[in-house]
Amino acid sequence: MTTDTCLPPGLITVEQAREQLLQAIVPLRETETLSLEQACGRVLATPATARLDLPPCDNSAMDGYALSGESDGGSYRLVGKSLAGHPFDGALYTGECARITTGAPLPAGADRVVMQEQAALRDDTLTLHTEAKAGDHIRRRGEDVRVGQVLADSGRALKVPEIALLAAAGVSEVTVLRKVRAALLSVGDELKPLGTPAAELGPGDIYDSNRIALKAALAQMDIEVIDLGCLPDAPATIRDALVLARDSADIVITSGGVSVGEADFTRKVLEELGQLDLWRLAIKPGKPFAFGRLPKGKGETLFFGLPGNPVSALVTLYQLVLPALEKLKGAGPQQVFNSRARLLNPIRKSPGRTDYQRGYTWRDGDGIQVVRSTGIQGSHILSGFAEANCFIVLPRKGGSCETGDWVTIEPFQKPLV
Ligand code: AMP
Ligand code: MG
Repeated sequence: MTTDTCLPPGLITVEQAREQLLQAIVPLRETETLSLEQACGRVLATPATARLDLPPCDNSAMDGYALSGESDGGSYRLVGKSLAGHPFDGALYTGECARITTGAPLPAGADRVVMQEQAALRDDTLTLHTEAKAGDHIRRRGEDVRVGQVLADSGRALKVPEIALLAAAGVSEVTVLRKVRAALLSVGDELKPLGTPAAELGPGDIYDSNRIALKAALAQMDIEVIDLGCLPDAPATIRDALVLARDSADIVITSGGVSVGEADFTRKVLEELGQLDLWRLAIKPGKPFAFGRLPKGKGETLFFGLPGNPVSALVTLYQLVLPALEKLKGAGPQQVFNSRARLLNPIRKSPGRTDYQRGYTWRDGDGIQVVRSTGIQGSHILSGFAEANCFIVLPRKGGSCETGDWVTIEPFQKPLV
């Protein structure tokens, strides 16, 4: 076995941690039936199939004229009209035409459509300005979807285009996996709930911003949040809250109290109530991240202990909790979208931990993707995070980067946007 000289002792790599915690997760199985209108973002538990062909009949792709066959001299006799919602009830014979609107059924006997702009109607005679070939501007029945076809398989998280597809194909209800329930709590004697007047904060007190940010992120991911508030650095209170979280939720996400300070009790209480699977990662920021499990009568509740520093909390949420939540929700593995960009400033780094710097990326005047760091990179610096639109991911084994180097970026996706 080769030793990894770049891995500081006692730390686990981000990749190993992600793999290990994903392996520990068993997706939810309980389902519920919802109207399609409520199902965006939810994961299908059973495949959704088409109730009809799409398009349901041959119809026109243009506003114009439906034509029957090729006519001598390029003119046709107008015999009727087919409007969307008001089909022509007769049939066309060679040399005849009917006015037609986009989406209106193609009259029987019609085999081509000419655009309105490419024909002139005088009295009942239509003269073409262009050649019309058989099949022109016709949308065929079933060319998009066939009745009975699987439109979205189980395990699929429904996005807006799928909602459109299912609605068009007559699927008004879907069976989805139930929402993940996440209990959320913050730990720290210095934390005060948002809404406390600033003048009432004691020396060193801060607002419990993590819980608000995490709640916003979880709401964007369709997670049901059980908010257990902010707790003091008191083991007995933390224990009671973790028991409540364990009994009411699928996962519990805490922030603060997982580091090595003398008041860091969250992890210790977890070890009393359950098991700690992972602690301390080779990640920057976010090293004190902890993952474990709280066994209960039926199964277990997953525990994610995020570091208290606000940037660390969100970076570890994004890099580790998010993939776990996707798996728990029943969705397949998510593709992480990343690309390369040219660095506009030097970055100091020592080998050892994967660094998720906050950056701002855009395409410059020459069409080159560039990125700059957004300000100071401390794990308490929220202004730079708020300004950022991507992570600059610096590999664990790498060192400092220079201006002009190509680096990996991960543009923010939900729930960071
Ligand atoms: P801890 O992980 O408890 O050692 O906290 C690390 C740092 O994060 C400290 O400066 C805390 O004051 C800060 N912190 C802890 N929890 C929160 C929170 N919920 N919101 C904002 N900052 C926090
Ligand atoms: Mg603390």
